[in-house]
Amino acid sequence: MKEHIFLASPHMSEEGFEQEFIQEAFDTNWIAPLGKNVTEFEKEMSGFLGAKAAVALSSGTAAIHMALKSAGVRQGDLVFCQDLTFSATANPILYEKATPVFIDSEPESWNMSPKALELAFEKYDKMGKRPKAVLAVHLYGLCAKIQEIAALCKKYEVPLVEDAAESLGTTCQGRYTGTFGDYGIISFNGNKIITTSGGGMLLVNTEDAKERAAKVLYWATQAREPARWYQHTEIGYNYRMSNIVAGIGRGQLKVLDKRVGKKREIYQYYQDHLGDLPGISFMPMQDGARSNCWLTAIQLEEGCQVKPLDIMEALEKDDVESRPVWKPMHLQPVFSGCDFITQVEGVCLTEPVTGADSSIGGQIFQHGVCLPSDTKMKEEDLERICRVIRALWQPDAAKE
Ligand SMILES: *Cc1c(COP(=O)(O)O)cnc(C)c1O
Repeated sequence: MKEHIFLASPHMSEEGFEQEFIQEAFDTNWIAPLGKNVTEFEKEMSGFLGAKAAVALSSGTAAIHMALKSAGVRQGDLVFCQDLTFSATANPILYEKATPVFIDSEPESWNMSPKALELAFEKYDKMGKRPKAVLAVHLYGLCAKIQEIAALCKKYEVPLVEDAAESLGTTCQGRYTGTFGDYGIISFNGNKIITTSGGGMLLVNTEDAKERAAKVLYWATQAREPARWYQHTEIGYNYRMSNIVAGIGRGQLKVLDKRVGKKREIYQYYQDHLGDLPGISFMPMQDGARSNCWLTAIQLEEGCQVKPLDIMEALEKDDVESRPVWKPMHLQPVFSGCDFITQVEGVCLTEPVTGADSSIGGQIFQHGVCLPSDTKMKEEDLERICRVIRALWQPDAAKE
């Protein structure tokens, strides 16, 4: 019997670090929200990454929501948001009844195009409008052109939020993603590079990071005023991470470097064993960046004999999980009517079934597949996956 291979599944430390932190919480009855694991996890993570302050929250989505709120995003405001991403990046903009403007990607990083971002600033400047925040993503652990994006945000005096949900451990010029923007967010969802079963963290990197983090902590714990009785002057949320969950996170942080090493080996393995197939290419690695390779994503060029769906179906038949690349936000019915800024002229529909178009993000979506990138995979698992994929290029050899 062949074993099921996951796209990316939770991988607890071999040493049992997570259990030790959880046991300590049980022994001291620090089960309920506040406790040592939460504050220590924040300190350890911000220390490791080099962020000025951190707030542990119930999810990455909650962290994005709090970042936008802290940046001053309110009803009717504009937020310039990366278009090619998971919907969790964009949804919190709508929680605050603000308006997203989606910004296309560029081919070298697959992330927000600094040129398209500049076009967006210019277009809205002419109307006398400026966004309250820019929300950029480091997709699949690939570093965005974050220094160029940050420079533009500085020029227009707009706060930058980095969605580093998928890129924990990725560095750009030796500095961790999530520490370039005014805010960074991390996710510890089950399929991310390290997981707490579910959770997230907000990083704050501004001069007044401590005050901003304190305000987020207040919103995230029901906005209780420091009074003897229950007093509220603002709407609050129940977004705080629990002490048990934080214990898992502290244990997982100890193996982050190891997980990044393994993810990078997986990427390298695929490149070595599939790279010669005609029409296949790999997600781009930029000079000066070291990706955590959260998922290895490939592209099958237009006219390639094998289509992304062929790979997904062949792997599924072999009980192996793979996924399409994120479908861009401007192609999502829920965001129809939102503005979309791209450098591509005359964007047109290219794939009637999925609705992909000729924008950069649309093309990455149309031609992309995410290959299994589970850190628990053994060499024989990778061999099996590559055999299934290679057979699609040599249909006769596969029948032997
Ligand atoms: C996973 C993810 C999120 C959301 O994180 P949760 O912890 O699941 O809420 C946000 N953005 C991106 C790009 C993600 O991949």
